[in-house]
Parts: sequence; structure tokens; C-alpha cells
Amino acid sequence: MVAVHEMTTFEQVNLFYDMAAERLELPAGIREMLRRPWRELQVQVPVRMDDGTIQVFSGYRVQHNGARGPYKGGVRFHPEADLDEVRALASLMTWKTALVGLPFGGAKGGVQCDPTRLSTGELNRITRRYTLNIEHLIGPYRDIPAPDLGTNAQTMAWMMDAYGQLHGHSPASVTGKPVELGGLLGRESATGRGVAFVLDAAANDLGLNPKGTRVAIQGFGNVGSWAARLVHQLGCRVIAVSDVQGGVYNPNGLQIPQLADYHRAAGSVSGFSGGERITNAELLELDCDVLVPAAVGSVITARNAPRVAARVVLEAANHPTTPEADSILDDRVVIVLPDILVNAGGVIVSYFEWTQNLQEFRWEENRVNEELRKIIVAAYHEVHNKVVSRGITHRLAAMEIGVERVARAVELRGFV
Ligand code: NAD
Repeated sequence: MVAVHEMTTFEQVNLFYDMAAERLELPAGIREMLRRPWRELQVQVPVRMDDGTIQVFSGYRVQHNGARGPYKGGVRFHPEADLDEVRALASLMTWKTALVGLPFGGAKGGVQCDPTRLSTGELNRITRRYTLNIEHLIGPYRDIPAPDLGTNAQTMAWMMDAYGQLHGHSPASVTGKPVELGGLLGRESATGRGVAFVLDAAANDLGLNPKGTRVAIQGFGNVGSWAARLVHQLGCRVIAVSDVQGGVYNPNGLQIPQLADYHRAAGSVSGFSGGERITNAELLELDCDVLVPAAVGSVITARNAPRVAARVVLEAANHPTTPEADSILDDRVVIVLPDILVNAGGVIVSYFEWTQNLQEFRWEENRVNEELRKIIVAAYHEVHNKVVSRGITHRLAAMEIGVERVARAVELRGFV
């Protein structure tokens, strides 16, 4: 038996899945089917660089399960994106879309590259070549990509354009697009807003008052920066934030609007004068009420989990907590609200964008935010009720709800 810390990310995510499948007493065949991705594609992404050389990147699209609807999941541009990681993230999307009741399956994509070292032209060419090479698997009723780590609305505009050159104008082929091209006002902030909605909904159950709650956030990209702004608006004291270059800490609370302006100009939070510098490792162990990992995966591990001082971990990133760390935190009575609930705001608003693209109309931003709130808060209460009635962790409760719905869809379809 492989030690948990030697397991791949996909194997680790499947440990959580196995616990849920075991409790649900899924039949062996269904259990095995839901453990593995339905389909995986690995492609070459050869691109001419600005200096005239050709560089060959690796691209992936993994479709984990589509029993509940078209596959849905982000595309990640990151130096460590590989098939195993993309598989893990695809499976989390299956459980996430089921947990929040969206008519989607789960998928994920990625290109192994470092977007911080590529020019806009190079990124455009990588995105187009990747899209053309996975084009036969995606589409408005097949598989709908969205932004993730290292990608954004511009990436989605290029994907839509490349797909549209073959299939005609297809705004519903990707979500998270610029508003000018059929994107929704409110999509960019949606994942961070969902994080804030979950914190607000859970505060009472967690014995917290959002006003003055001390929050530390790792990551200041799409998710982290919006989460910081929106929990700040709730009245929380954001005492630390970080990005890949390091973090900044002020026990009295950081001035988030000024920090966001500074980040926009400087490209990093680490030199902000309104606090002292800290490392990412220090941020994770800060004395605070709520720790929000909102960057890369597997940052809370068996090594640092004994020193996590927060009372609550709000998982805005995907798979930020390894299974070993998860059980250490549980033993220490640190409550972990899991990724498939906490960061579901992005896919919820992607669902609104997709349906509205199909019908060529658009809600106003207030409506987007309000409908997001209803769905994610209802999902939180569903999870919490199960936690209370069954005496299990929030992660297990969320996984159980998601896995049960997918298993039911497989059974109803009768395709096995
Ligand atoms: P992003 O690229 O916009 O931002 C990533 C942030 O993390 C940046 O501030 C970057 O500097 C920082 N970072 C990168 N490597 C780091 C490291 N090793 N240590 C510390 N910080 C590091 O990405 P994002 O869209 O904000 O995604 C962040 C996380 O949220 C990912 O785990 C992603 O899968 C998850 N997520 C994103 C969405 C979405 O809608 N964008 C939805 C659900 C989940």
C-alpha cells in the first residue's frame, strides 16, 4: 500500500471519493466506473515563439463523468499541469456540479506552460493550437471549458474564436468570456463571491461573527483577490494575503482597496507598504480565524497541518488540503469547508452564462449575484444538515451528496 503522501493528486482525491462511495454502499462496478475518467486526451501543442523557435507544449483534456450533462471544467496553464493533476481536477468538477445541482458533468484541461513567461502573442497561439487539437471533444452540448489557474477571460475569447472558425459563432462553447463577447457581468468575481457567501452563511454555525473575523488568504489572482475584496466588504479583517512572490501581513487588517490598486500597478502584493512581508509558508500558519487557500493545490500537508492556527479552513483553491492534513485538521477540530462547495461560485455563474448564451440574452449583474447566492447558500445548508445529522465532516458530507447524485444519474440512464 502506497503511503498517502506518496500518492498522486488523483489518487489522493480518490481517497475522499472512496470514503463517500463506501458510506453510500455503491455497487462495485458503479464504484469503479465513477473512480476513473470516462475519456482522456493528451495532445501536442507546437507553437512558434516570438524568437522564431518552435516549442512543443503538452496539453490535456480529461472528461471525468458526463452522466448529468455536458462536461464542464476549467483550463489551467501552469508549469506543473500534467495528466494526473488534470484528472484529479476533472473528478472534483463531477462532484462539484452535482453537489450544487447544475446539469453538467465534470472535466478539466490544461497546458503545461508558465504563462508568466510568455508574451500575449505566444499565449494566443498556444490557446488556439490547444483548442484546435481538442476541438473534436468540446462544444456547447459536449464539453464547455472555462478559466482556471493561469487563464482568464482573454484566454476564453481566443478559445471561442478558434472553435468558432470551425463551427460558426459559438458563444456557449466556453464560459468566463469577456462581457463584450457574451460573458456575464459577475462571472469574473463569481468564485470569490461564492467564497464570501459561504463564509457569511456558515458564520453562525461556526461561532463566528463576520464583523472582525480575521482572515488570511493565500493567492491574489482571480479567486483570492475577489475573495479578499468581498470578505472585506462583509466586515472581516483581512490580515494577510500573498501571491507567488510572497505575502503581506498586518494584524490590524490590510486596506484591501489600496492593496488591490497596488497589485494592479505592481503585479504583486508582496511589496505593499501597508503591512510587513511574510512568506507563503508563514501565511498558512498565521494566527487567524479563517484561512483561505486560493492559489495552488496541496499546500496544507501533514507537515504544516499541526501548526495551522486557524479555526476554519475555507478551501477556495482546488485540492489545497492533502488527505493526511485533512485528518490532522479534523483531529484538531479545525473545520474544513471543502473546495467542491466553497469554490463552486465560478461554475454556478458559468452555468448562467452558458444558458444565456444559448438563448442570446443576459441578466443584469445584481440578478447574477443574487441567483448565485441562492444556489451556493442552499448547497451549504444541505451539506451542513448532513454534517449535523450524520456526525461526519463537511468534506465527506459534500462528497456524499455529489457522488450519490452522479450514481443515480448513471443508474437512471441505464447505459451500463
Ligand atoms: P489565478 O491564476 O488568477 O491566480 C493564482 C494566484 O495564485 C496568483 O496570485 C498567483 O501569484 C498565486 N500563486 C501561484 N502559485 C503560487 C504558489 N506556489 N504559492 C502561492 N501563491 C501562488 O488563478 P485563480 O483562477 O484565482 O485560481 C486559484 C485557485 O482557485 C486554483 O486552485 C483554481 O483551480 C481554483 N478555482 C478557480 C476558479 C475560477 O473561476 N478561476 C473556480 C474554481 C476554483
